[in-house]
Amino acid sequence: MMKSKKIKCPYCHANASLRPASVVYGHNRRSQGKFLYLCDRWPACDAYVSAHDRTHLPMGVLANGDLRHKRILAHQALRQLQQSRNMEKWEVYIWLQAKLGLNEHQAHIGQFSDWMCDEVICLCKQASGPPADMKAAA
Ligand SMILES: [Zn+2]
Repeated sequence: MMKSKKIKCPYCHANASLRPASVVYGHNRRSQGKFLYLCDRWPACDAYVSAHDRTHLPMGVLANGDLRHKRILAHQALRQLQQSRNMEKWEVYIWLQAKLGLNEHQAHIGQFSDWMCDEVICLCKQASGPPADMKAAA
């Protein structure tokens, strides 16, 4: 029997339920075997978050379309920083934890608000900007 965690939609405060991902994505590769927590008012309320494959625990807080997009951008910013600095993925997260004053359990983009995602994007831009010696030469 699948365990379902009781969580609420942060937008409309309805309950969110564990549903097959095909409800949102249709029956395709992306949804195959996947689950997500979907606001009970969906599709009137466009909030959901993916569930982990094995545990079916939510990967974060439910997000609407704007926030889902912001989280994608924050992930991209981190990946770009990782590549430009030749870092490992875990090194980028250690750096992020230090910058934001969060511990490893808190520093998940899936948990981040719109504002926090903006912070991540801004920090990554600063960190992957031109090196200091180039500025001195200008
Ligand atoms: Zn909702």
